[in-house]
Amino acid sequence: KLYNEVQELKGNIRVYCRIRPFLEGQNKSETSIEYTGENGELVVANPLMQGKDTHRFFKFNKVFGPASTQEEVFLDTRPLIRSILDGYNVCIFAYGQTGSGKTYTMSGPSINSEEDWGVNYRALNDLFHLTQSSQNTVMYEVGVQMVEIYNEQVRDLLSDDVPDASMHCVRSTEDVLELMDIGLMNRAVGATALNAKSSRSHSVLSVHVRGVDVKTDSILRGSLHLVDLAGSERVDRSEVTGDRLREAQHINKSLSALGDVIFALAHKNPHVPYRNSKLTQVLQNSLGGQAKTLMFVQINPDEGSYAETVSTLKFAERVS
Ligand code: ADP
Ligand code: MG
Repeated sequence: KLYNEVQELKGNIRVYCRIRPFLEGQNKSETSIEYTGENGELVVANPLMQGKDTHRFFKFNKVFGPASTQEEVFLDTRPLIRSILDGYNVCIFAYGQTGSGKTYTMSGPSINSEEDWGVNYRALNDLFHLTQSSQNTVMYEVGVQMVEIYNEQVRDLLSDDVPDASMHCVRSTEDVLELMDIGLMNRAVGATALNAKSSRSHSVLSVHVRGVDVKTDSILRGSLHLVDLAGSERVDRSEVTGDRLREAQHINKSLSALGDVIFALAHKNPHVPYRNSKLTQVLQNSLGGQAKTLMFVQINPDEGSYAETVSTLKFAERVS
């Protein structure tokens, strides 16, 4: 089963939609998501209009409803994660407006309980279990990097004093938890200074795996990039100025550059426009070729989010 799924993913862009539940205080009757069906189908109704033509249909590889657990989401992600031990480069993105659950899916609401763990902790935990159990045949080394991209500038979240992203060797899930703590703290430091900057920057956690076959000495390399993207919401140009406008323009530019790259790869276009943003430059070697891409599109359930929800789903539809 696992094997088949990995084959099916080869060279593909996969899109999973996740609908976050209503939060406390939100009116549950006011939803724009009319139906979460089987087979990755989703219908969104325009709350401002009546009648049939107001319904938009979307189809993705999978839709996770509001009741889905972190574990369920990971079970459908794991085959992809495991393929990096076969030498694949894997990129996983979370895309959506601020508050739609990107960080919840990637990191989780807290790291204190394993049940809460998002894709990144589960992925690394899984990788360590696999690499340790195969020690007699393949010796693996795992290195981790963590950067933030804000206003087209890359900042290392794990070290202050190196020009490039620092690489940190890790041997266990505990090592990773410790590093991510540092990374998240560094991210938060910037956030208070710049008012929740984290939702306006991209964070990229990169995992590099190098395996040496004990018998033949042959070397295999794979990588995993876990990307919590900046919020995709549009800002009204007439309402923001200065820093906020500049941020919004940078986010816009990098998200559309990402969309263009994934679109070009999905349609096997000969030219892939990697150079148009820092984000796509950072990921250039890991997107395309033997790479596998998974995009989580995160949406809100409330009808007030209708316009953003449709724009998020259209972005996902275009790249898949
Ligand atoms: P984003 O990173 O897209 O801005 P967050 O991940 O911070 O959004 O989620 C916004 C809020 O919704 C947080 O309080 C988070 O805990 C909650 N939330 C998001 N997704 C879920 C979910 N699947 N189940 C329960 N709560 C969720
Ligand atoms: Mg977030």
